[in-house]
Amino acid sequence: MERLIQERLVVGPLQCNCVILGCPATREAVVIDPGDEGKKIVERLKRANLTVKYLLHTHAHFDHIGGTKEVKADTNGTVCLHKADDFIYKMLPIQGAMFGMRRFGMAPAVEKFVEDEEILAFGEHKIQVIHTPGHSPGGVCYKLLTDDEAVYTGDTLFNMSIGRTDLWGGDSDLLLKSIRERLFVLEDEITIHPGHGPSSQIGIEKHENPFLI
Ligand SMILES: [Zn+2]
Ligand SMILES: [Zn+2]
Repeated sequence: MERLIQERLVVGPLQCNCVILGCPATREAVVIDPGDEGKKIVERLKRANLTVKYLLHTHAHFDHIGGTKEVKADTNGTVCLHKADDFIYKMLPIQGAMFGMRRFGMAPAVEKFVEDEEILAFGEHKIQVIHTPGHSPGGVCYKLLTDDEAVYTGDTLFNMSIGRTDLWGGDSDLLLKSIRERLFVLEDEITIHPGHGPSSQIGIEKHENPFLI
């Protein structure tokens, strides 16, 4: 099997890591967290000659869904989110205004509610949903089941940090439980790609992340 196409774009004022994963054989792709700068994401998809199957969101904070409308309009990828974050997703204009950005309209409706342990296929590749509530009620991580077995952790787990829990439905005890019981049970060697900042590894975070040791 040819190696997966993986591209990271840092988008928006909060520098969200938007990730494009593409199957080289079929050109089918997923976009994780099209948080802003939708045009830039669409251009990158076109340049790589990829067709979007799913627009995957780790959660519904504005910095992860702000570009969804533009990318959806251009690619018609299926908009995916965990149901427990739908109330936050529907608040996009309010969220933006709270952070001083009044340019966001409503995000396009969610078309597929993803569930814990669900496996989504794109081309010859597969990605699995891991529900990790705490940063938000419907927060999920996406685990790549082929190639590198990386995990896209959104704002649940960062390199040497964890997500804030003072926003809608945040719960710090639940966040720590999600990280310990759903992420730290994975193999130490697995790479994590957070929603902001640099990548890391499960084992490194398990032993050195100051919020968890
Ligand atoms: Zn967030
Ligand atoms: Zn974020």
